[in-house]
Formats: sequence, C-alpha cells, structure tokens
Amino acid sequence: MSALAKFNGLSVIASLLYPPVCSICAATIAHGEYLCAECDAKVTRIVPPFCTKCSEPFEGAIISEFTCANCEHRVLHFDAAVAAYRSRGIVRRVILDFKYGRQLHLRHLVARWLFAALDDDRLRRRRFDIIVPVPLHPARERERGFNQATLLADLLSARMSVQNKPVLERIRYTTTQTAFDRAERMENLHGAFRLRKNMDVRELRVLLIDDVLTTGSTLSECARVLKKTGANFVHAATAARA
Ligand SMILES: [Zn+2]
Ligand SMILES: [Zn+2]
Repeated sequence: MSALAKFNGLSVIASLLYPPVCSICAATIAHGEYLCAECDAKVTRIVPPFCTKCSEPFEGAIISEFTCANCEHRVLHFDAAVAAYRSRGIVRRVILDFKYGRQLHLRHLVARWLFAALDDDRLRRRRFDIIVPVPLHPARERERGFNQATLLADLLSARMSVQNKPVLERIRYTTTQTAFDRAERMENLHGAFRLRKNMDVRELRVLLIDDVLTTGSTLSECARVLKKTGANFVHAATAARA
C-alpha cells in the first residue's frame, strides 16, 4: 500500500473519532472544511492591478500595459503565471505545513487556492492538453516522501479532466534557492530540468503546476525546456505567490 493510500485510510478513521478542527486555530469546523470562517477571512487574495505576466500585485491604479520590477530585464519563458493568493500569513503557514510538516490532508485546501487561479481571465478560456507538475530532484522527493506539485496536479487533473503528465525531470540537485537573488536563481537553475525519455510535448498546450511562485525562475526554466522541445503554449498556475 502506498504511503498516500495508507494516510487516506488513517485519516478516514481519524475523522470518525475526532470532529474536524481549523488547521490554524483549532476551532471546531464543519466536515469538509479546513479553516474556520475567521481564519479564512484573513487569507489574502491577489486583486487587480497586477502584472499580466507574473501576477505581481501593484498598489494603486495602472491603466496601460506595463512591465513589473520582477519581470523587467529578464525573459520569462511562460506565457503567463497565475496565482490568486499571496503566500503570506495563513496561506504561507498552510503550505509549509503541507510541504514540510507532512500534513498531506492540507493538499485539498492548497488545491482550492490553486483552483481559484483557473478562474483568472488569462486561464479561464484556454484549453490545455496536459498538466505538468514542476518536478523535484529524485533525492529530494525521497527525502520528503512526495512531490507537492504532483499531488496538486493530480487534484487539478481530476477537476479539469485534463491528463496529468509528469514529462519533466529534475537532473540537478540545486541548493536551496531562498538565499539567492533573482539573477543567481536563474543561473542556479540553468540545466536543472529536462524532458523525460520518450516524452513528446510537440504542439501541446501545457499547464505547468507548482505550489508557490517566488520569483518565477523555476516555472520559467521549466517553460523554456517545454517550449524548446516543441510545446506551443506554457501557462503556469500556482496556489500562491510570494
Ligand atoms: Zn481558525
Ligand atoms: Zn511581472
């Protein structure tokens, strides 16, 4: 039995014994919920105006097309990267608990935030041929026990009826990106991903999935590889944006 199947079985048993509580404040909540109304109200939605390319929000009114500071002076290879929530406060905490705290049940809440990104104008009317999760290096996936992007892509695949196809692999174990500036991140990632053997993305419209967009460098590098190997479009959706 897989770790996830075992986990699902245990969580069914646990939910019969204990009433569900808010993932943040432990207040009692209804079945099928993850946050109480009070905590849910503190979740920060990204509202316009924001950068059309990378979803970086702006203060004040911007009427014309513009390039944000995050996108300036660099090429981002995805067509657009969309997130509906900011990775702050409760959103950040839930994603960290899901990813590093092994609280796998939280994937359903994180996936709800990801689904909200699909409602965005830049994605809503598009059709996709495949969903592709951003891969982890095999050593890191073994260490964590799962790839959070794959779990989210599975849920999204079921909802959109689009095949989840992990066509990319990560071939370099890069050091953690957080200490790097933007230019260093791009450099650090070059050559980190490649198309897996016998995979073909020619002429496909790809929806790339990850949990969080920080600078967009990872998604851009994945998109570069997908486009170089023939993908027509690569859009990206994440549950949150730094
Ligand atoms: Zn709460
Ligand atoms: Zn931007």
